Amino acid sequence: MSLNIIPILMYHNIDKPPQGARLRNLYVRTGAFARQMFLLKLLGYKGLSMSAAMPYLRGEKRGRVAVITFDDGYVDTLRHALPILNTLGFSATCYFISQRTGKYNEWDAATLNVRKSLMDEAQIRAWHAAGMEVGAHSRTHPRLTGCTDAELQNEIAGSKADLEALTGHPITQFCYPYGDVDERVAAATRQAGYDAATTVQRGRARSGDDVMLLRRVLVSGSTWPHLFLFKLLGNYEDKRG
Ligand SMILES: [Zn+2]
Repeated sequence: MSLNIIPILMYHNIDKPPQGARLRNLYVRTGAFARQMFLLKLLGYKGLSMSAAMPYLRGEKRGRVAVITFDDGYVDTLRHALPILNTLGFSATCYFISQRTGKYNEWDAATLNVRKSLMDEAQIRAWHAAGMEVGAHSRTHPRLTGCTDAELQNEIAGSKADLEALTGHPITQFCYPYGDVDERVAAATRQAGYDAATTVQRGRARSGDDVMLLRRVLVSGSTWPHLFLFKLLGNYEDKRG
């Protein structure tokens, strides 16, 4: 059986970049996001959450699927991305920092020169109630490779427990803050009971990949439609991995 290539798209903010913000590339404008999702649909892709894509990633099922992921859980994911996903019948996974709900990106606000609002508990429940997946992105967004074993347990298993209490639903997907992961961190994530975890290593995932170290396709504010197509269909991202 040949390999199934599964692009896991990585987004941060779906919005217009605010004045004075650095790394404006983290922002994809709402209109651009809508065009990208529409293009997926036109090309015959099913846009799926991580958990819905697991049978494809494990090689148990074949099909033209793309995974849609959002890091950090910004309010703009709910306001701007959700209506588009719902219109197209797509699902997606948003990774939340379980002890920063209703707060802002304190881990990189100074670097980016912008405070970005994170969804509060009611908004996370609304995201989940709309048919979208809640994934975990630790409790406080630390660099996990620098954590002690006890801190790892707290951040990885703790965020799972927090979000399960919040949604009343099993949380099976994890995303490493900053993509910072080594063997010990990946093992702790597997032991905490997650089914899969994503990194910021660039490339398209393939069925049979290590599901605790999944690569993703970076979509940024400068990903114009032709580049989006190259990233999706060609080996553009794979060469940058
Ligand atoms: Zn993050």
